[in-house]
Amino acid sequence: MKTPFITKKQAEEIIKKYPTPFHLYDEKGIRENARKLNKAFSWNKGFKEYFAVKATPNPYILKILQEEGCGVDCSSLTELMLSDACGFKKHDIMFSSNVTPEEDMKLAKERGAIINLDDFTHIQWLDELCGTPETICCRFNPGGHFEIENQIMDNPGEAKYGFTKDQLFDGYKLLMEKGAKNFGIHAFLASNTTTNDYYPNLARILFKLAVDLKNETGANIKFINLSGGVGVNYLPEGPQNDILAIGDGVRKAFEDILVPNGMGDIAIFTELGRFMLAPYGHLVTKVLHEKHTYKEYIGVDACAADLMRPAMYGAYHHITVLGKENDPWDYKYDITGGLCENNDKFAIDRMMPKIKIDDILVIHDSGAHGYSLGYNYNGKLRSAEILLKEDGGNQLIRRAETPKDYFATFDFTDIF
Ligand SMILES: *Cc1c(COP(=O)(O)O)cnc(C)c1O
Repeated sequence: MKTPFITKKQAEEIIKKYPTPFHLYDEKGIRENARKLNKAFSWNKGFKEYFAVKATPNPYILKILQEEGCGVDCSSLTELMLSDACGFKKHDIMFSSNVTPEEDMKLAKERGAIINLDDFTHIQWLDELCGTPETICCRFNPGGHFEIENQIMDNPGEAKYGFTKDQLFDGYKLLMEKGAKNFGIHAFLASNTTTNDYYPNLARILFKLAVDLKNETGANIKFINLSGGVGVNYLPEGPQNDILAIGDGVRKAFEDILVPNGMGDIAIFTELGRFMLAPYGHLVTKVLHEKHTYKEYIGVDACAADLMRPAMYGAYHHITVLGKENDPWDYKYDITGGLCENNDKFAIDRMMPKIKIDDILVIHDSGAHGYSLGYNYNGKLRSAEILLKEDGGNQLIRRAETPKDYFATFDFTDIF
């Protein structure tokens, strides 16, 4: 069962100051989870989580994670700028981009970020653009299907990312010729996995590859980046990933493969986004409208522009009606936003308690790829982001957009 991290009373207090809809983040949950991740990998001396900024690009959130020992994973100019503003320095920043513009790469190099190359041709390009750094990482794509115990997890052969295996061996050699001294390997082979076996299986593949790369090229491999992909269970039933078991599975692979090959000082990096933030965000929204036609509809003041996952992926997000947690869930509704798009539904045929106008709904697990996937379709304005602090207080960490923000890019005209 999923329970909200706020009560109805707390929500009403916040709504007095900041109208719905808004994204609310749970500082306590974020910190506890980050500590648990660090504990799960504490057996590895150099372990570091590089939070995937794209999941929740808010400086207040980044600062919390920084205090918990995390770095950042960036893939664009503005993500680099945001990280810079938060005081992330040099190797606290991983730059994992693809189809990289010159300007972005130059800034990453200037800031001393660890550059994770997505393509073989980027080796020469980077060297000519701003020189080859001493420490560099390459992204690996094994192609084919990624399976765990005969179950297909994802389809890397159809993914645009990374070097083929042959390109990786040639790439390491070329990079060494160009002066690179310290190497990393990165791979992201399956998204939103809900099995404790994903990281350990990926680790075994990358650890064996590291041994082969070292033996064939002589490269000094310093770190292995398991990237993102450890998911969360969005459903109210079924288990969540157990990060302690995941860390232990990676440790076993490390001891089986790297340690006997004299590579026991390799650091493990992760670039988790969803796992770090999704469960610690709620989209809080109020009921504006009920409608009885061929179906029963509940219309709320949030819409797909605030949380695109249900419209985009058909993703399930659990919904709680605050104060009605213990009512019978015996009404069936479609819960919709107000976009002129029929996929703007947070839930379809969902059993819920009886809902009334002005009820406050919490849409769960919206802390990652929630606000950040938002958009302005139909002229909808982006919502505020609010932090529920550890002491129970709250802080506005991004104000809601106003029409002026929406019209700001027409700054060459005097209509507005
Ligand atoms: C999106 C992304 C991540 C984070 O993925 P999650 O599914 O949020 O864990 C990590 N690394 C890279 C390069 C990414 O593009």
